[in-house]
Amino acid sequence: MIPNSFIQKITDIVGESHVEHSESARMAYSYDATPNFQSKPDLVVSPKNTEEISQIVKACGEHQVPIVPRGSGTNLAAGTTPTQGGVVLLFNRLDEILEIDEENLTITVQPGVITKTICDTVEEKGLFTHLILAL
Ligand SMILES: Cc1cc2nc3c(=O)[nH]c(=O)nc-3n(C[C@H](O)[C@H](O)[C@H](O)COP(=O)(O)OP(=O)(O)OC[C@H]3O[C@@H](n4cnc5c(N)ncnc54)[C@H](O)[C@@H]3O)c2cc1C
Repeated sequence: MIPNSFIQKITDIVGESHVEHSESARMAYSYDATPNFQSKPDLVVSPKNTEEISQIVKACGEHQVPIVPRGSGTNLAAGTTPTQGGVVLLFNRLDEILEIDEENLTITVQPGVITKTICDTVEEKGLFTHLILAL
């Protein structure tokens, strides 16, 4: 169980509407697309930029709280199941397409951009996607 002082510190960083620790929120982020694998986080946090992420990571380090980064939770390897509790760090607010390099046929996006948006964006340029992901 994480202390209230830690929850307050995270709330100060991202704002009250971007921190959740209700039973329903913890349940919603206790699993991903992997079957039969579930474990609840203590806190679900949605930062808006790298500065906030940096502060969250620092606070988690100081309090020894584990972090599980989560895009859309579509992986099939339980990578976003918070097996040791802690913070699920949501990237849904980081949803910008940073660069489309038509010469090298690559696209650079923030981690919250969903696949359909990528497909639609490159199709406008007469291209199509074959996803090979690099974090
Ligand atoms: C039906 C299906 C088809 C698929 N087809 C393809 C395909 O054609 N090509 C392909 O490449 N993949 C494919 N995949 C795999 C798919 O791309 C993964 O589900 C994808 O990597 C998950 O992205 P996500 O953002 O939802 O990450 P999540 O599932 O949320 O996370 C995946 C892992 O990455 C970590 N992570 C997430 N974001 C970050 C971050 N910003 N920094 C550090 N770590 C992070 C998580 O902690 C977790 O360990 C397919 C999956 C499915 C279910």
